[in-house]
Order: sequence, then structure tokens, then C-alpha cells
Amino acid sequence: MKRIVVLGAGESGAGAAVLAQKEGFDVFVSDMATINAKYKKLLDDHGIEWEEGQHTEEKILNADEVIKSPGIPKEAPMVRKIAEKGIHIISEIEFAGRYTNSKMICITGSNGKTTTTSLIYHIFKEAGYDAGLAGNIGRSLALQVAEDPHEYYIIELSSFQLDNMYDFHANIAILLNITPDHLDRYDYCMQNYVDSKMRIIQNQTEKDSFIFWNDDPIIKKELEKYDIKSVICPFSELKEKGSIGYIEEGKYTIEKPMPFNMEEEELSLSGKHNIYNSLAAGIATDIAGIRKEVIRKSLSDFPGVEHRLEKVTKVAGVEYINDSKATNVDACWYALESMKTPTILIIGGKDKGNDYDAIKPLVKQKCAGLVYLGADNSKLHDNFDGLGIPVRDTHSMKECVEACYEMAKPGDTVLLSPCCASFDLFKNMEDRGEQFKTLVKNL
Ligand code: ADP
Repeated sequence: MKRIVVLGAGESGAGAAVLAQKEGFDVFVSDMATINAKYKKLLDDHGIEWEEGQHTEEKILNADEVIKSPGIPKEAPMVRKIAEKGIHIISEIEFAGRYTNSKMICITGSNGKTTTTSLIYHIFKEAGYDAGLAGNIGRSLALQVAEDPHEYYIIELSSFQLDNMYDFHANIAILLNITPDHLDRYDYCMQNYVDSKMRIIQNQTEKDSFIFWNDDPIIKKELEKYDIKSVICPFSELKEKGSIGYIEEGKYTIEKPMPFNMEEEELSLSGKHNIYNSLAAGIATDIAGIRKEVIRKSLSDFPGVEHRLEKVTKVAGVEYINDSKATNVDACWYALESMKTPTILIIGGKDKGNDYDAIKPLVKQKCAGLVYLGADNSKLHDNFDGLGIPVRDTHSMKECVEACYEMAKPGDTVLLSPCCASFDLFKNMEDRGEQFKTLVKNL
């Protein structure tokens, strides 16, 4: 009996273990941290052996193959040992892909994955298709393949998942954009990160489709290196050479395979970045054969995703917006770009090596105030104090919301779009967004 070891027992690892066991492997699960009770129960219910708080070498290095959670870096000592022994390391998505013939719609990019994936899923559900949501959001793909199979899977893929994918193939691949992110996990080499993202098209055939943002200079340059077999479906803001999705005279337009258009202002998601996300979703669902009336309606009634340009409430004539998920400079750029009224921007947190130059012109143009929110705000002072905009220095969400309330005038917008990770003051970006929303609602 072949042995599969699963490293990391979160949503993806626990699901992979269940599928491996169903497929007749000898399965062992090992996690350095404490395993969530929900996953312990899932493993116990299936009689799968597991350990937590340690990695027992003898039980791991005898594996035929290892399924690694995307959260564990390749530099982790146990991962190094596994690689040195020549044991093949794969991701949960790669493993699950071996045991299903369902159609795979895969979404990657530095920003916009969750929004686009959720939007596509929304359109599929509205169309009455049998679809599962998987990858970074939703439930484990492997668990669904094992116990609740669907005809289609809409899968959000991070670069970390793509890193350990080899034979998997996406029927519809979407590459939204590539901007610097997570470089700490790619030896601070941008090309390594780019190569990882480009894996989204590996193994595609002429029956598959590849949807990508035609305006992205990095993607454009990369594509010259590849012999792409799939049908290419570029989209852009304005009609560009080759683009099959774009905005023309205020109309959201898809040329192929089934031409359709709608008023841009009827799209439920606002902001330039969301035009891109809506174009990618429209093309993907059009390719999947969903009727244009359904796509149109779903693009206009999609409720949006929490913590992404989420309108919280209006207090004393001031609109409060939660974009806590903006954990890099590019995401904040798009949020600011979409602001229509003077903005008090909340910025700061755990800096991932940010270069703030890209947003300075927009900050100057749109911001009536800046509220720094972080354990250490010195880099923000260095970068923004010189712009001549009033600034406030805060170290907790309570202080921050009070500062915003004092600074904002009726008609202004307060935007939490911090450019940074949240771990210096919060559990995660959801915690940061929740605290913001609660305090704003209590103003
Ligand atoms: P991801 O899952 O890739 O992190 P999200 O959909 O969660 O993407 O959005 C993350 C952040 O990026 C949000 O702040 C959002 O406003 C911004 N964003 C969304 N789509 C795009 C896009 N296409 N380009 C740039 N920024 C985007």
C-alpha cells in the first residue's frame, strides 16, 4: 500500500487526507501547530492517524508522496528533509485533480482573486449549475471530490498552491494581474513569484481557455516566453488589440464566445479594479455557456465580498468603507482611485517591504487626512508627512476610529485600506475589519 503523508491539517490538509484514505492510501497527517478541533474530528471520524505539535521523522520520511499545506514554506526544516530524500511534494489541489474529471475554473493573480472567484461562483449558482467553491476560499477541493462532488469547481489559487502543482490542468484559467507580493517566500526574486503565477496555464490544451488582463506589463512580457495552446481571452479597460472584453462608450462589452453587453453603471461592484474582475468573470461564465441574461443580472446583483471596499455605514454625513483586505500597495491604489469624495485614509500595519511611491500622487489628490494605524508608524511618517496633509498617529483601532471621526467633515469618506498586513495589532485582516466596523457602528 502506498503511503501519503499530509503536512499541515487545515482545510486543505484534512480534506486531502480524507480523499487519500478513500483512494486506498496508507495516510498519516502531521502538523507542527495545534490542529483545529473541527479537523481533528474529521480525521478521527475517518480513522486517519494524526499528530500535532511535532513532526515525527520516521513516520514522514517513509512516504511515497507528501501533500503540503500552502501555508508551510519550502524552507521549513521538515520540508527540506523531505525534498532532500527525493520525496515528491504536491499541493492538495494537484492531488484532488487526479481523482475528478469535473471542469476546473481556476483564478489567480496578486489581487482580486477572492472577489473574482466569488463573483464567478455567484453567477454559476444563479444559473443553477452544480458548482463547488474551493482553493483559498470555500471548502477543500479534495474533500468535495471525496464526499460531495460537483460538475464544476471554481478554485481560487495562490502562488503557494501553484508552486506544488505539476499535472493539474485548468479548463478555464484566469490570471488577473501580477504585482510584487509575498517576495519573502520567493527568495526576494520577483521572477520566481512571476513563474509561480504563470503555472496557471501549464498543461492547458486547445480545448481550454486562458483569460488574462491585457494591460498588465508583466503578463504581456511573460506571454512572449510561452507557447500557449489554449484559446486566449484577453480583457482590458479600453478596447485593445486582441481584447475580447472591455468598456466601450460606457458599455461593459464581451465579444466572444457569445457576444453581449450591459451598462457599465449597472455593475454591482465599483472601482476600476472591479471592472477588471467583472470582465474576467463575465468571460469565464460566457465560455461556460451560461445565458447572457443570467450573467447580466448576476453581475448587477452581486452583493460583494466582506472586507473588500465594503460600505459599512454613514455617520454624520461621512461614509465609512472597510477595505481591510488591502494588504499591499497596489490594492490600496485601486481603492483610492475609486474614491469620489475627499478621503481620510487609514494606512499602516505590518509592512511587507512596501514601496509607497506608487500611491503618493493619489494620496495627494484624494486625501483630506491620513490616519496611521500600526505598532510602528515611523515608515509612514517618513513617506507621507511631507505631503502637507493632516496626519494622526494611532496604535489601536479605537484610537484610529476616534481620530477619523474628529478629522472627517460631512461629505468625506473614511477608507480603511492599509497597504499592510494586520498581524502587528490584530489577529488577522478579518479581525482588523471587524473591529473597524463595530467601532464605526457605535460612533
Ligand atoms: P485576493 O484574493 O487576490 O487577495 P481580493 O479580491 O480579496 O483579492 O481583493 C484584495 C484587495 O485588492 C482588496 O483591497 C481589493 O479592493 C483589491 N483588488 C481587488 N481586485 C483587484 C484587481 N483586479 N486589481 C487590483 N486590486 C484589486
